[in-house]
Amino acid sequence: MEKIFNNTQVAFSLKSDTELDRAYFLFKMINNQPLVRIGTAVTNFAIKTNLPVEGLIRATVFDHFCGGVNENDCITVVDKMFTKGVSSILDYSVEGKEEENQFDAALEMTLKTIEFAKERQAIPFAVFKPTGFGRLDLYEKVGAKQTLTQEEQAEWDRIAARFDHVCNVAHKNDVALLIDAEESWMQDAADDLVTAMMKKYNKEKAIVFNTLQMYRWDRLDYLKNLHEQAKTEGFYIGMKIVRGAYMEKENERAVEKGYPTPICASKEATDINYDTAILYMINHLDTMSIFAGTHNELSTYSLMNLMQEKGIKTNDSRIWFGQLYGMSDNISYNLAANGYNVAKYLPFGPVKDVMPYLIRRAEENTSVAGQTSRELTLIKTERNRRKGK
Ligand SMILES: Cc1cc2nc3c(=O)[nH]c(=O)nc-3n(C[C@H](O)[C@H](O)[C@H](O)COP(=O)(O)OP(=O)(O)OC[C@H]3O[C@@H](n4cnc5c(N)ncnc54)[C@H](O)[C@@H]3O)c2cc1C
Repeated sequence: MEKIFNNTQVAFSLKSDTELDRAYFLFKMINNQPLVRIGTAVTNFAIKTNLPVEGLIRATVFDHFCGGVNENDCITVVDKMFTKGVSSILDYSVEGKEEENQFDAALEMTLKTIEFAKERQAIPFAVFKPTGFGRLDLYEKVGAKQTLTQEEQAEWDRIAARFDHVCNVAHKNDVALLIDAEESWMQDAADDLVTAMMKKYNKEKAIVFNTLQMYRWDRLDYLKNLHEQAKTEGFYIGMKIVRGAYMEKENERAVEKGYPTPICASKEATDINYDTAILYMINHLDTMSIFAGTHNELSTYSLMNLMQEKGIKTNDSRIWFGQLYGMSDNISYNLAANGYNVAKYLPFGPVKDVMPYLIRRAEENTSVAGQTSRELTLIKTERNRRKGK
């Protein structure tokens, strides 16, 4: 496979010189680990004490990684990206809420994004996080098969009803719906809910998608077992395949509580697990749809190669590639330019509520050993190309 992701001209075709310079300084800043650590602490403090820092956050990290503070703000970005064939997934990125009215608000917001997706070719999926619809502790309790109090049972029934409501609307409107995966100790209960939804709404094709985190060594077996169930019960499987975002938390908790970590023994093991899951799904594409959520170039080339080997069209509706807005444009834009289906998660929400998301992005792009992050290298290459260097 030709190395198409090195083409920075295509990658940054939507960015003006000024925008590219802004991105350069942003990544230069977050490349510096002490600066990110101090910046995070100062920002958290400023937000808690109501200091007027929102403008500063908006002008820097927020506008780079988010589409806006509400769903309407995002439309300009959605339309702009789609001129280059890159689709969007509106992601309401408010995290860590614990109240019933907040869960209902997240449900309403997800329903609204389904409505948006129904009206726009540029938005092929809707998405939500299970903990957006209910308390993490309750997922954990249900997953561990502990007895619930009457109130807890009623609370759980409301979570299940939110899942059913949103999946039902997605199905009626023919909008595919991604459901994110989170910490392993809440995931069993979420998986059971999502499987029930697939069984109910994926009779004709994959509408409801679960997420498999392939840094977990048990996920390949999980996929194979689900496949057996799907064959017997007659439903399609939709799966977002990612590596997983909670590795440190998972390892720390396993040590603290004295159980074997659910995480693969090494990065290489996770990489192999990821590519094997993709291969398994490609081999069963008659009943499966894949959303490959990754910034890993090798895994992306590997899926492209598989498609070519098997004579699968680049724009086959059962295969999507996905990246996050503000990252890996070299993958997204070059995939789109070569005719593949690609969509970027476009986060939105009030500035202070998306801070946990923004901090994760900053940390992810911080270099540990002082080397330049990949994003920074790409931007540098493009700046030099434009200057004729
Ligand atoms: C569109 C999209 C949707 C996503 N949705 C979710 C989601 O629902 N849930 C979720 O948890 N994450 C999600 N993620 C994040 C994803 O799980 C990864 O954290 C992120 O994409 C980085 O992994 P990568 O495949 O891009 O590549 P890489 O940069 O090659 O891999 C980094 C990943 O490898 C794994 N890893 C690193 N070191 C080790 C080690 N020593 N041992 C074992 N494994 C290791 C970790 O998972 C780490 O995040 C999503 C990402 C995208 C792009």
